[in-house]
Amino acid sequence: MTSNAELMRRDLEVVWHPCTQMKDHEQLPLIPIARGEGVWLTDFDGNRYIDAVSSWWVNLFGHANPRINAALKEQVDRLEHVILGGFTHEKVVELSEALVAITPPGLAKCFYADNGSSAIEVALKMSFHYWKNSGQTQKTRFITLTNSYHGETLGALAVGDVSLYKETYAPLLLQPITVPSPDCFHRAPGESWEQHSRRMFAHMEATLAQHAREACAVIVEPLVQCAGNMRMYHPVYLKLLREACNKYNVHLIADEIAVGFGRTGTLFACEQAGITPDFLCLSKGLTGGYLPLSVVLTTDKVYDAFYDDYATLRAFLHSHSYTGNALACTAALATLEIFESDDVIGRNRDLASHMARALAPLADHPQVAEVRQTGMIAAVELVRDKASREPYDWTERRGLRVYRHALSQGALLRPLGNVVYFMPPYVITPDEIDQLARIAAEGIDLATR
Ligand SMILES: *Cc1c(COP(=O)(O)O)cnc(C)c1O
Repeated sequence: MTSNAELMRRDLEVVWHPCTQMKDHEQLPLIPIARGEGVWLTDFDGNRYIDAVSSWWVNLFGHANPRINAALKEQVDRLEHVILGGFTHEKVVELSEALVAITPPGLAKCFYADNGSSAIEVALKMSFHYWKNSGQTQKTRFITLTNSYHGETLGALAVGDVSLYKETYAPLLLQPITVPSPDCFHRAPGESWEQHSRRMFAHMEATLAQHAREACAVIVEPLVQCAGNMRMYHPVYLKLLREACNKYNVHLIADEIAVGFGRTGTLFACEQAGITPDFLCLSKGLTGGYLPLSVVLTTDKVYDAFYDDYATLRAFLHSHSYTGNALACTAALATLEIFESDDVIGRNRDLASHMARALAPLADHPQVAEVRQTGMIAAVELVRDKASREPYDWTERRGLRVYRHALSQGALLRPLGNVVYFMPPYVITPDEIDQLARIAAEGIDLATR
């Protein structure tokens, strides 16, 4: 029988892991996972872990979900994949119909890619190309928020603002126009999320007024800047942004790659502001965490600007080998069927309240600046000094101590810097949430000593 140690040894001979300083693994064990079931992961030594981060925010209805498994088993004997240029298949048609039906009104066409970053590349290129096709060739720039994250391919990295990922590659990147984020962690004492978000919108309004002529689009993560330490803001910001983008003739790209599919309490975060973006990027939860797939939804207005005779170069000549993969579309359809047949959003409301109650005591911890939550995303921000909110230096790696403690107690909690967060699969139970909260509280005590 293979053990953790044996598999780790073989892994480190040949695998280079994502977002990892590989030398860390001289000290830090890798966890080889043998099986998943529901919220639980089991390693090769038989230890079990609650997957509190949904395996990097992708899993919605648990590992080895019987309904998604059954759909995939049926599809794999019929059609695994077919070229989507000049060909089509039933699952991509059904999925597109379903996505158009459930996303905000006005989104009418689906363009597929196979990961989140590629969806961002598609949206950026499409927006630029739309303006070019419309004779507005001076529109070449993008407006983004500080602390935003949109992926790690060069275009997506350029419109993000997490310096840890971006700094090294700065000479390779296009230059966005960066506007201060409405991040409510920085609200003034006594100020509400809504007041702060409205006040911060003045920066965006001023930037749009100044740069509208050269701006293709504003790109935002609606409601939660996830990779930017789970910082949150009020829906009013999105409402104001939609109005201003209309006024200044600039596209709005909503990156719901992380927050889509119920994470913020509604199926899509944009719903809370009652807005329709010009481009909606989805991935992560799209296939329930099973297979790589992403999609950009856009309007007929955008689509029509590309519709012409071939010779004009107005067409969107962008493709990925696995565009619209049939197995991935099948997993996505099975995921959407669960949303349709079970009251997922309603059940999540109860789970989110339970999560709030379970984490509330941590707000009084001397090293906790804030416990915040939007729907099924809850975060606990650790600081060196509670009064001044002076942060710990990231090189101290306080979060890593929480991570290690959690693993020893049977939980996969993977803090972002000094922010411990829960973003669990929706099949988690209230008891499991209590278990996570206890482990997180112990880990925070140990890490802040
Ligand atoms: C994860 C993420 C991406 C990138 O998706 P990948 O599939 O990792 O390339 C883009 N935007 C947001 C908001 C994300 O959370």
